[in-house]
Amino acid sequence: MARQSSFGVCALCGARAGKVAMGRHVRACLSERSGGARSRVLLVRVQPPGAPMFWLDVAVGPTAKLKDLDGLLRRVWLECCGHLSEFYRGPRNRAPMNRTVHEVLGTPGTRLGYVYDFGSSTELIVSHAGVVEATSVAKVQVVARNEAPRWSCEVCGQAATTLCAECAKADGGFYCAKHASKHECGEELLRPVANSPRMGVCGYAGEA
Ligand SMILES: [Zn+2]
Ligand SMILES: [Zn+2]
Ligand SMILES: [Zn+2]
Ligand SMILES: [Zn+2]
Repeated sequence: MARQSSFGVCALCGARAGKVAMGRHVRACLSERSGGARSRVLLVRVQPPGAPMFWLDVAVGPTAKLKDLDGLLRRVWLECCGHLSEFYRGPRNRAPMNRTVHEVLGTPGTRLGYVYDFGSSTELIVSHAGVVEATSVAKVQVVARNEAPRWSCEVCGQAATTLCAECAKADGGFYCAKHASKHECGEELLRPVANSPRMGVCGYAGEA
């Protein structure tokens, strides 16, 4: 249904690049910025295991804790009604929220699992993507993100603006405004199309 682009945009300079090339780009882009005190900046990539069109590259300052990264993921991608969330180093091995991100993800090859909402879960993988000496960043900051995928109305093929939370469970349910209003499941199940892996889940209504 989607025209899936894995292109994204650098938030620092506006450059557009593919998902793999963007990893290299943000490392260079961050280290080339001048001015101010410099510090070690960790780059992490966040993506849902089953939906490769969604991804975030996040720059993490030395003092940022997992709870700061959790806060960012909620703001940008996830928050619907204040569900619980956790980071994991492996099955049943929880990473405490008060650890710094550098401590738990500072080594090449490291990755963490993450779950938001233990009912209608959204699962993410957070991977080490490099360390650069760079002008200090905010504790945690999105430096690149996928371009919004385009979805087509199941009835007419026009750009979809809405999806049905019930039909989305079976990987469908995208509609334009006109056909959403005629959809049989009912208005209370309709959610806005959003650039987020939580689109259509629970009460998720897009970035706040
Ligand atoms: Zn850039
Ligand atoms: Zn919810
Ligand atoms: Zn339509
Ligand atoms: Zn439906």
